[in-house]
Amino acid sequence: MGEALGIMGGTFDPIHFGHLVAAEEARLQFELARVIFVPNGHPPHKKDYDVTAAERRYEMVFLATASNPGFETSRVELDREGPSYSVDTLAEFRRRFGAGTRLYFITGADAVLELLTWHEPRRLAEMCEFIAVIRPGYDLRRLEEALGADLMARCRVLAIPGVDISSTGLRRRAAGGESLRYFTPPAVEQYIGAHRLYADLGAGASAAG
Ligand code: ATP
Ligand code: MG
Repeated sequence: MGEALGIMGGTFDPIHFGHLVAAEEARLQFELARVIFVPNGHPPHKKDYDVTAAERRYEMVFLATASNPGFETSRVELDREGPSYSVDTLAEFRRRFGAGTRLYFITGADAVLELLTWHEPRRLAEMCEFIAVIRPGYDLRRLEEALGADLMARCRVLAIPGVDISSTGLRRRAAGGESLRYFTPPAVEQYIGAHRLYADLGAGASAAG
């Protein structure tokens, strides 16, 4: 059997320890050769705040993952025009790594619940399986109901201790001048400070999420 790779897509605005723990647990428990982080170039789902420039988000992901030889950062969605559809990204990785490589798309339960709203979810599910990261005790019937039997069959479940951190929360903290220490790696915290990201977030800082 060929090697298995994880793909962790996201806006990563900014990346935080919730993302990193999920990716590392998936890597270890599913014996993935690597996890490739894929920051969205142009998020296809409209956000209720101004998303930070893709290059900045990419650099933060790069800084956060550099010390882990099992992590990698991909520019594939930055270097492609138009909206960043996961299905296009998976097709690209399929071409790159060939049919013998197993591809796992790693997502939080909140994201996988919305899978049917993504672009061509069934074609996506033909190219990869999903690792749905949940907290222990999560009611799996929610997933089954949202996905249906066919997509659920393509979904593996990974229960990890919950890390209740979100990018929304970090943006809000940064906007309020609060510390991001222990929410994200020091290099990311420094980067956010140096570039004054989220400093004048205004409406975005108070957006729900
Ligand atoms: P936002 O608050 O802006 O929605 P976010 O923290 O959810 O940001 P995203 O970039 O939207 O981060 O998420 C990328 C992926 O990481 C998604 O699959 C999401 O479900 C997952 N994820 C986000 N936060 C966590 C967390 N704390 N633990 C596990 N997975 C997470
Ligand atoms: Mg989110």
